Amino acid sequence: MKDPLLCVHNLTKTFSGCGSPVIRDVSFCVYPGEVLTLVGPSGCGKTTTLRTIMGFEHADRGEVKHGDEVLQSGVKFVPPEQRKIGFVFQDYALFPHLSVLQNVMFGIRGVPRARKRAIATEVLWMIGLAGLEDRRPHDLSGGQQQRVALARAIAPGSRVVLLDEPFSSLDPDTRHTIRGEVRMLAERAKMAVVLVTHDQEEALSTADRLAVMRDGVIEQIGPPEFVYNHPANRFVAQFLGRTNLIECRAEGGVGDTPLGKIDLGREVDGAVTLSLRPEHLELHKPIEGRPVGKVIAREFKGHDMTYHVRLGSAEYLVQTDAGCGFKVGDEATLCPRMPAAIVDDSGAGPVKNVRLPLA
Ligand code: ATP
Repeated sequence: MKDPLLCVHNLTKTFSGCGSPVIRDVSFCVYPGEVLTLVGPSGCGKTTTLRTIMGFEHADRGEVKHGDEVLQSGVKFVPPEQRKIGFVFQDYALFPHLSVLQNVMFGIRGVPRARKRAIATEVLWMIGLAGLEDRRPHDLSGGQQQRVALARAIAPGSRVVLLDEPFSSLDPDTRHTIRGEVRMLAERAKMAVVLVTHDQEEALSTADRLAVMRDGVIEQIGPPEFVYNHPANRFVAQFLGRTNLIECRAEGGVGDTPLGKIDLGREVDGAVTLSLRPEHLELHKPIEGRPVGKVIAREFKGHDMTYHVRLGSAEYLVQTDAGCGFKVGDEATLCPRMPAAIVDDSGAGPVKNVRLPLA
């Protein structure tokens, strides 16, 4: 296992005039070549976490380490300009009066001007902006401006880069392309990247690991597939996408639900709440001896279809392929394709923090 490049431990921050902390005991590590996305609803503390790591805000307590170097602790505070961490803002924050090259050269310190120019030129080439060195930011597209901001963040040699909602003002295609580029860059340059977003799809598709925040606290951290399929609680389950929450009783690892008996994938007894995502359910013609519901609506989405099925007093969502022939009014049986995730029980919940094993 490689050593982390960035470690944050119990980071807590209260703004003056606010009674309670806006982030509480935030802890995570980011490894070389890894992209960690911080995702959560507006106001949950994502930006404050990044700004505190960067040193733009003073933490009440907690520790920030870059490799072996302590940047923030009870007795130490390294100012932002000495942290060797790159920061990309949502609005790019480029200097409008400087050229692309000058913008990228701006943060490089301690080397002669010719060397700064060579470094900036190389980074711009790496990021696909060769040939645009002499342009001003307002002569660039949004995507190109965001690439310049990224180049400026990494040009000083930063191996830790913090990105605060950097793609939010870009069109979907450009967003998609730049997300891929950030991932490639992190891998190639062995950088540790923390990406803040409130877009759950972006968080899932860009992350090696994602951390879901609510009210200043990390609720769950782990590889996207794990967190999506095994949410630690109802909030995480619902924040990362549509899901069917089912309250039932479990015995010997089997849930007795209105849909019938459902495998829970582990030994558990007593009252539980399950999360079954729409794509984890299948729609069948009525099966004898199994509960039967009625299709009450369907949403055609091009590549797939979501059915709304009423069964008893509840409504369930089922995602099928777009060619599924069920119509509104049809009767159907719902069958799970995989064990349901337990999001709430009185015993041990799912694993809360999972570190991605790196080669
Ligand atoms: P968004 O997705 O909307 O950008 P966020 O998750 O990044 O939200 P933060 O910007 O970190 O959230 O804000 C967290 C909380 O801290 C919010 O309630 C916000 O109003 C508050 N806050 C942020 N900056 C300050 C400040 N300088 N002074 C007082 N309160 C602040």
